[in-house]
Amino acid sequence: MTNDELRTWTVYLLSPPYSTLTYQVPKYFPEHIWRKGQRVLVPLGKKNSLRLGVLARKEKSLFPCEQLKYVFWPLEEDLLTPDYLRMVEDLAKRQMVSPGKILAQVLPRGLKILPKKFILADQNKELSIRDVFDDESLCQTLTKEWLAGKVSFVRPKVQSNTQLVNVVMEPPWPIMPNARAQWQVMDFLWENGPTTKSTLRRVFGPNIYAVLKRLAQKGLVSFQSDKSLETKKTTHVAKNKYSLTSEQERALKYLFGLLQQERAEVALVHGITGSGKTLVYLELAKQVLKKGRSVLILGPEIALVWQLFNRAQEQLGPKDLYIYYGTKSAKEKEDLFFELNKKSDPFVLVGTRSSLFLPLKNLGLIIIDEEHAESYKQEQNLIYQAKEIAYYLARSQKALLVLGSATPDIKTYFAVEKKQIHKIELKKRIGQSILPAVHLVDLGASPAQFGPLSSVCYERLLEVLDKGEQAVILHNRRGYAPILYCEQCQEVAKCTHCQVSLTYHKARQRLVCHYCGLSLPFPIICSHCGSCSFLPLGEGTEKLEEFLAQNLSDKVKVLRLDRDSTRRKGSMEEILDKFARGWAQVLVGTQMLSKGHDFPNVTLGIIIDGDLGLGLPDYRATERIFQLLTQMAGRAGRGNKPGEVYIQTRNPNHYCWDYILNNDYEGFYVQEIKRREKFAYPPFVKLALVRLSFPVGWKEKENLLIKLKAIVQELARSIKVNVLGPAPAPLQVLKGRERYQCLLKASNWLDIKKFYALMEKRIGQNKKIRLSLDLDPVSML
Ligand code: ADP
Ligand code: ZN
Ligand code: ZN
Repeated sequence: MTNDELRTWTVYLLSPPYSTLTYQVPKYFPEHIWRKGQRVLVPLGKKNSLRLGVLARKEKSLFPCEQLKYVFWPLEEDLLTPDYLRMVEDLAKRQMVSPGKILAQVLPRGLKILPKKFILADQNKELSIRDVFDDESLCQTLTKEWLAGKVSFVRPKVQSNTQLVNVVMEPPWPIMPNARAQWQVMDFLWENGPTTKSTLRRVFGPNIYAVLKRLAQKGLVSFQSDKSLETKKTTHVAKNKYSLTSEQERALKYLFGLLQQERAEVALVHGITGSGKTLVYLELAKQVLKKGRSVLILGPEIALVWQLFNRAQEQLGPKDLYIYYGTKSAKEKEDLFFELNKKSDPFVLVGTRSSLFLPLKNLGLIIIDEEHAESYKQEQNLIYQAKEIAYYLARSQKALLVLGSATPDIKTYFAVEKKQIHKIELKKRIGQSILPAVHLVDLGASPAQFGPLSSVCYERLLEVLDKGEQAVILHNRRGYAPILYCEQCQEVAKCTHCQVSLTYHKARQRLVCHYCGLSLPFPIICSHCGSCSFLPLGEGTEKLEEFLAQNLSDKVKVLRLDRDSTRRKGSMEEILDKFARGWAQVLVGTQMLSKGHDFPNVTLGIIIDGDLGLGLPDYRATERIFQLLTQMAGRAGRGNKPGEVYIQTRNPNHYCWDYILNNDYEGFYVQEIKRREKFAYPPFVKLALVRLSFPVGWKEKENLLIKLKAIVQELARSIKVNVLGPAPAPLQVLKGRERYQCLLKASNWLDIKKFYALMEKRIGQNKKIRLSLDLDPVSML
């Protein structure tokens, strides 16, 4: 082997086209500088424009070396470790995207911006990188200085606080009906939450600044750094000294035993709601810190991450404790990235799924709380399942991975049964509290008479309020009415981009598509008959709140917790706080209600429509309902008074009820797993969804569908993949695109990927067509 062959490296580009390229490394840098994970500057294309890349591996060159370009310069040392890069490569392989593209998605923005200048420390001088690149002798001189530690880069600045536009006034808003731009922006902000000015500019164009100015003058929006949006307050009352219950003690001992083995292990903590899982996690974290290793605790969403963080602070103190989530500013993300990278003391990091992409060295423990939550799968941009990455990290760092839930993912429990995962149970609630009694109300026999409430539920509600206790009412549908029905021609108002019915939001006086965010003023004119007498049908949380406020005694106050009521900054904390203080007696809300809240005075839970979602064309529909309703039931009776839960249904014979009523996870699991085996669904097969879409009204549609069918049939003959489809997606039209899908089932992922790769190739390039592969889809719509 000659020397030249040794000095060739594969590089992942961090900018489009994100390719993986081969470069030589210049001889005037010593060999040891080049290592896997090193960020480098490389020239690209005819003009040798400089790009950022990351060294992947040393190659035995196949080409005559003269033809290869040279890496120009190494950036800072020891930023991305080889381990970090291997994790990215593993993910890249699984998702069939280039590692460069993944790095571009997961690294903080500052690490992807090209530095422009060298800085010579002792001469207090800056040099343009381009000038150095163009001048070989200067380049060689500078190398010597660099190696002597006298040269560095001017680190590109990212804006220290990205200004977020934030709605500060609840609807109705004082905007003229014909001020279309203002409406559009307000509706966008309301549907999407606080948004940076630059994003708004991208969506609405340069006129946005004038519109924002007007909205700010009216007091509708404000501009804030995202740091100020942090909401630290929780309703959790700090009780500092706990002694563990015997169950908690036992769980801790078992987990500690696993920890001592210092090899990758996975354990499920299956503990009913209110059984004190969090304290077990934190005690375990203490042990890990004592051993000098770090801890990562993941929560499914920001509000719960804050809750975990506060509990962690209470138990472990603020030292070496960090919080992280995706909406932090680019600057904060970058700072934390550097800080954790150089940190030698063990730490605890609490965060959402994207925390996995921080430099986490020396991990001894990873905890995934509410492991069944669907938000652990990221579905947009970069698709990944946090549990898989966590497992990868646990394996590579010989750490313990703890999954916690009252309603574990069926797949997790299957792995327990297969003895791949340890199981620890917590079967008792803390203190005096016991699980609530759950009852089913058959709406066929006992129809809704009081608004959406059956008489049983209404009477129970009155009784509970009479006693001065509180109730929570779940209705998983936001807005006022989900359907708007034309009284003249009986048509339903639909979104023009998605063909789904528009939801009427009364306070906003708007009709909103919950899939694409389209929003229209109300009243509208029927597109079929021109009439404008519409009848709102069915109810959402907004109408439910209105009904209760109008029909219950004047003394009773009703609050609502859903996306609309929590849009304004701080409003979620206000609502939860008011309810916790007993200012209101009834809390109405969507699934947000089911998440982790602890209100000891709640003794009644009502679920307005237990069937919502049960009929969805998705093999996980029942599992999801089981999880939601069990978690919801877990909100009642957490104090000293026993609780009761009523579920209204039109399907009293569905098999899931028995298990929900008896809080029988195991029983549900046995049924569900049998069904999955019979119909060949995960965990018995690997499942993937191929999505294909094109603009509505595209004239090549018929040809494409015929071709697609032929391709799929032919491929299915040669590769062992079972294909359902192509068929129209359940939401056939979304955002102006017509959508089709194929469900792929196989015994291994490799066959599925092979299938998809060939399919993609045969369909060929066409700008109108979008094709994507979703492994183990969470949403099948
Ligand atoms: P889970 O996450 O299992 O639903 P939590 O961890 O939220 O349950 O605990 C439920 C409640 O019990 C919390 O208010 C918590 O502070 C309290 N708690 C937990 N462990 C103990 C203990 N050993 N002694 C007293 N209170 C406890
Ligand atoms: Zn009509
Ligand atoms: Zn729509």
